[in-house]
Amino acid sequence: MRVESAAQGPRRRVHRSEDSEENSRKAPRMLGPNRFAPRLCDVSLDELAGRGIRGLIVDLDNTLVAYRCSEIIEEHLAWIQMAQRRSFKIVMLSNNFSDRVRSIADQLAVECVPNALKPLPTGFWRAQRALALPRRQIAVVGDQLFTDVLGGRIFGFYTILTEPIEPHDFALTRVFRFFERLFLPQRHLP
Ligand SMILES: [Mg+2]
Repeated sequence: MRVESAAQGPRRRVHRSEDSEENSRKAPRMLGPNRFAPRLCDVSLDELAGRGIRGLIVDLDNTLVAYRCSEIIEEHLAWIQMAQRRSFKIVMLSNNFSDRVRSIADQLAVECVPNALKPLPTGFWRAQRALALPRRQIAVVGDQLFTDVLGGRIFGFYTILTEPIEPHDFALTRVFRFFERLFLPQRHLP
């Protein structure tokens, strides 16, 4: 499996853990993530385990890998493997429907739900069914407020918003980024 260094990413604002509560007050409740993390690999598995989380729904583009990239960042690969060793169940949930989604999921030995249509509930429901866990034991990790966080909050999952890995995005995502700035003025977005 090819890996690459995370150091290739753009300049990004690093949030401290206390940023979560601060930004949650600014965003409407349904749009406020429970936690911020600079990158997927910065999400604390200890904290999740302490909260009783046993299942992870992980976004693909700009969360796990860079935009349209199939090379898994070394630190993210290590994070996924550590989560698996600690018996977290993982499902990759992506609005992308290309063969790349399933290929990356196969590399990581995780289940995947492509063409998820986040934030609509269909994909989240399929992910929860794959995890076979109650909602209170599931966390969603993703880089988009209006897909990953909103969809996760609608379902009652614990939600963690990460910074996008790089500034490139799908066309529709760039529209969402504009509105994210309104709700998360402190967030560094390209
Ligand atoms: Mg994404």
